Amino acid sequence: MQGLFDRYGRQHTYLRVSITDRCNFRCTYCMPADGIECQPKENLLSFEEIESLVRFFVRHGIRKVRLTGGEPTVRRNYLELVERLTQIEGLPEVAITTNGSLLALDAERLHRMGVTGINVSLDTLDATRFEKITRRDKFSLVWNGIQEALRVGLRLKVNCVVVPGVNDDEILDFVELARSQPLTVRFIEFMPFLDNSWNISGVVSSSEIREKIGDIYPLFSVKSDPGQVASTYQIPGFRGDIEFVSSVTESFCGDCNRLRLTADGLVKSCLFLPTEISLRDLVRGGAGEAELLSAVQNCLDGKWKEHPPMTKWTQLDQLTMVQIGG
Ligand code: SAM
Ligand code: SF4
Repeated sequence: MQGLFDRYGRQHTYLRVSITDRCNFRCTYCMPADGIECQPKENLLSFEEIESLVRFFVRHGIRKVRLTGGEPTVRRNYLELVERLTQIEGLPEVAITTNGSLLALDAERLHRMGVTGINVSLDTLDATRFEKITRRDKFSLVWNGIQEALRVGLRLKVNCVVVPGVNDDEILDFVELARSQPLTVRFIEFMPFLDNSWNISGVVSSSEIREKIGDIYPLFSVKSDPGQVASTYQIPGFRGDIEFVSSVTESFCGDCNRLRLTADGLVKSCLFLPTEISLRDLVRGGAGEAELLSAVQNCLDGKWKEHPPMTKWTQLDQLTMVQIGG
């Protein structure tokens, strides 16, 4: 069988590539306010190394790449990397997850390069609250970025991590965004990572959110593509749709098709599985196709059928979201 398969017969066609562990925001659910140690530049994969690894993965069946981080747009000249990747033959989808701080400036170029989707994190529609959550006074910048992305015609998802007492009173306001705009609002359950003070009581479950929305709007489930982590819903008359990412309460490991590459070149088969396999070291040591493939296969062979229950997560991989790559 050709392609990247794990022991459970799942083919991996989606690669999430973190291109930096740095960020210009400090979202409370993601990073501590300070004290984060970033990797020295020489530890990071260069653009040449990323491109060459992506080409390798595409030869082995990867069909979608998402750039993430940290904040991918803070990596110097990131547009150059995006351009390189969008030109790779056999890779129909190149997407980016961003905090939106550079979107007002870059949306048009990203669209012209052929970027197929942008996910923007936005957890509140209130500027004061935004500053509390992100520890940065940048609401207008992000909001303008979202408007610009829509104006140029980028496919857009708004990622909203719902935390009780922080933004759970804004759920319906977020739903309203999808009424007149062709965007997807995605409600994400709060997940545990190193130093983010996670507690099960800090999780607003997707079913609670669905119920709250369902009390006001007729929500209809629509079929999602295999490998999708989100369940998708529509509301009649709305231009956009609503999605739920229930990482904590509803496992979606069943048809997982994802691999991850950290900014320093580790390959990961699951957000919550530690890894020792450095593709960066292999590439820098002159490894050929077979050696790389065997390393990736090795990583895939260690992939579990599904991640353990959330109460055990904090003991698994003591890394922050930005060190792993969100
Ligand atoms: N900086 C970019 C951004 O904010 O979109 C990309 C990286 S960020 C780590 C990727 C996604 O992870 C964002 O949508 C963010 O909201 C989400 N995220 C971060 N920490 C999380 C947590 N503890 N639980 C759930 N989602 C989280
Ligand atoms: Fe930065 Fe994104 Fe994490 Fe916020 S969620 S701190 S923007 S990496």
